[in-house]
Amino acid sequence: MDSKYLNQSVDVLIVGGGPAGLMAATELIRYKCTIRILDTMPSVGRKFLMAGKSGLNITSSNSDVIERYGEFRDWIAPIIEKFGPNDIMQFCQSLGQEIIFGSSGKVFPKCMKSSPLLRVWLTNLVRQGVEIHTSSRWLDFDKKTNSATKNNRITNIVRSNNVSYPIISKATILALGGASWSRLGSDGKWYNILRNYLQTSKNSLVPFAPANAGFKIRWSRHMMKFEGIPVKSVTVKINGIAKKGEFVVTRTGIEGGVIYLFSTMEKGETDKLEVDLMPDVSLLTIAKKLDRNSRKSTLTNFLRKSLGLTGVKFALLREFAYPYPETTLEFARIIKNLELRLDGNYSIDFAISTKGGVATEAVNNGLMLYDLPNVFCAGEMLNWSAPTGGYLLTGCFATGSHVGKSVAKYLNLKLIA
Ligand SMILES: Cc1cc2nc3c(=O)[nH]c(=O)nc-3n(C[C@H](O)[C@H](O)[C@H](O)COP(=O)(O)OP(=O)(O)OC[C@H]3O[C@@H](n4cnc5c(N)ncnc54)[C@H](O)[C@@H]3O)c2cc1C
Repeated sequence: MDSKYLNQSVDVLIVGGGPAGLMAATELIRYKCTIRILDTMPSVGRKFLMAGKSGLNITSSNSDVIERYGEFRDWIAPIIEKFGPNDIMQFCQSLGQEIIFGSSGKVFPKCMKSSPLLRVWLTNLVRQGVEIHTSSRWLDFDKKTNSATKNNRITNIVRSNNVSYPIISKATILALGGASWSRLGSDGKWYNILRNYLQTSKNSLVPFAPANAGFKIRWSRHMMKFEGIPVKSVTVKINGIAKKGEFVVTRTGIEGGVIYLFSTMEKGETDKLEVDLMPDVSLLTIAKKLDRNSRKSTLTNFLRKSLGLTGVKFALLREFAYPYPETTLEFARIIKNLELRLDGNYSIDFAISTKGGVATEAVNNGLMLYDLPNVFCAGEMLNWSAPTGGYLLTGCFATGSHVGKSVAKYLNLKLIA
């Protein structure tokens, strides 16, 4: 969209073209209003596209979805009740994407990617009159007015092509994302800008922290060929807390669902973790099976034949348990409690998602900021969090949809006949 139109007034300015911002626009196109989406990046939805690289887990079919939001469950429950997993699946189907169900309740578009869905989604929005301006950065509200909102209008300051423009809107929806993967646009820089408007004495802003992040491990060269390989059906234990699931070996460490469950631990709390490579088999059964083997064959064959331990699980044993113990009981103990030495947490920028941002107490039921009338928030920039498994996008879509409806009500917009 040509930047010469950028400074014209608009009914609803949506800042951030991620899943939350786009879903807000999708609600609002049903009403008579002008809608403009701004994104600082040269194209919208970059993190959403990245999410599709390893299979876009778009929502969850589990019956206890709300429980996954932990301490935020009561806050998010009424929002997800109005736009939840079934609505998300229907929305995908309306964009021509067949839905498939994976393990652990995971739901994916059949093509597993984000790009076909995003392409049709954007085409629909533009066809219905939504203006999308990329490479346009929201900088601030106009401080000259002393408060962002005056006469029920907001003056937003936006920079595009090195020129700063004021944009007056009746409502501004901020959907600026969290503070990870800054190269995809969500750099969290809005935090210090909003600090000028929100009363931090009321804890309106919560510092960012990684919510789903991996751990670093300095692998030996033997492990390099296992990069990207999942270690399935294991139990991971840190400081006495055990979680069952799977993780993936990366070039520089380990990532994945079961690992992310520990990512909010303080630095130093986690210099090692233990892996039970065979959580469904008891220590004594493993020891007995090992005893039955003559040890005449190579160790690889011995573990493969007696226990079915092959591939990446065997490589982990070699990496962390060599030289192997003499007795079968001792070996069985190691298989049940393999100690992985960690070299620290990945930095926040490598986290799948972050917690922190605008406190849920800082917004009303319609997600409007108490301290900034006519300014609303949606998506990961709000302080809620959830594990991976489709719950993150579910929360972003749900808050995006909710904010769209709430702005329509607040501005008393009329439905298009
Ligand atoms: C590798 C990876 C894989 C993932 N896989 C999954 C998955 O399978 N399932 C799942 O549920 N979740 C997944 N997620 C998480 C999910 O992608 C995010 O939670 C989601 O994209 C957040 O949506 P959002 O709209 O709140 O913010 P974002 O998607 O981060 O969008 C925010 C937008 O705001 C723009 N912006 C920021 N500041 C400004 C500014 N000042 N001016 C203008 N524009 C600005 C950014 O450019 C960006 O486009 C994954 C994340 C990553 C990194």
